[in-house]
Amino acid sequence: QASFKVAVLGAAGGIGQPLSLLVKMSPLVSTLHLYDIANVKGVAADLSHCNTPSEALAFTGPEQLGDALKGVDVVVIPAGVPRKPGMTRDDLFNINAGIVKTLVEAVADNCPDAFIHIISNPVNSTVPIAAEVLKQKGVYNPKKLFGVTTLDVVRANTFVAQKKNLKLIDVDVPVIGGHAGITILPLLSKTKPSASFTDEEIEELTVRIQNAGTEVVEAKAGAGSATLSMAYAAARFVESSLRALDGDSDVYECSFVQSELTDLPFFASRIKLGKNGVEAFLNSDLQGLTDYESKALEALKPELRASIEKGIAFANK
Ligand code: ADP
Repeated sequence: QASFKVAVLGAAGGIGQPLSLLVKMSPLVSTLHLYDIANVKGVAADLSHCNTPSEALAFTGPEQLGDALKGVDVVVIPAGVPRKPGMTRDDLFNINAGIVKTLVEAVADNCPDAFIHIISNPVNSTVPIAAEVLKQKGVYNPKKLFGVTTLDVVRANTFVAQKKNLKLIDVDVPVIGGHAGITILPLLSKTKPSASFTDEEIEELTVRIQNAGTEVVEAKAGAGSATLSMAYAAARFVESSLRALDGDSDVYECSFVQSELTDLPFFASRIKLGKNGVEAFLNSDLQGLTDYESKALEALKPELRASIEKGIAFANK
């Protein structure tokens, strides 16, 4: 069986630690490179005692970043600062934008062919920043750069299954647009297995999915943001990527990627993943939208466009 190397940048953080644990459990992983500017040796020592097939190695400090990335197939980036109560994802912009820029420069220099999974918020801006950095380095492959929006899908599936009394593992709701507030658009009309919703249910579920991150920030009351569910969702996206790299021909996920589905340069939608990254877009998801969904799609575009442009401007300043 093929096995792959995965690097987690920001591995000692609230998302990074549980994400690294879940990736350590994958039978498709041979080596897990854990990178952080602090506290990563302990995380690697701890994980290395789990008797799963992969090896966990620690890398710390800018001088070890290159070694953390060499030979890696998938790079996952949760590094940054978390949301505090009252903060929007955009408040994180200036700090996280700089962190992502630095880390992606190192990815470009050391593993330009890897799948890159961006988790650091605001994803609507950090993905365009990563694209610009990769372009500046002459190694941009739009098929291999992903904003991780899996948590929006995971939440949509969970909340819809609860509301409609469906068996959770059967439920699949595509979520399109972006990864903040109203830019998150669950396509409830495309729910599988098919379910019918009243107007009130559509409004309630849509708003709950869009604000689910805030639900967690408030419940944690100063102790952080969504980390466990985020790690779970990100690990699922890693596993899907590894299955695609391994030649599985039946891998579909939603992700925020360079896209021609709309007039926006980046857009989250369902994609088919293959060995070379994005293999196809599921265009049909955007056809036959309900009135509610079409209006929400038009309404999210200005904010999403502004976030994308802010990222591009940051990277080129
Ligand atoms: P979250 O809940 O989003 O994971 P944390 O603050 O718990 O937020 O974790 C973020 C992690 O990112 C921390 O472990 C921090 O040390 C790490 N980090 C911050 N800046 C960098 C950087 N430049 N390179 C790598 N890791 C970083």
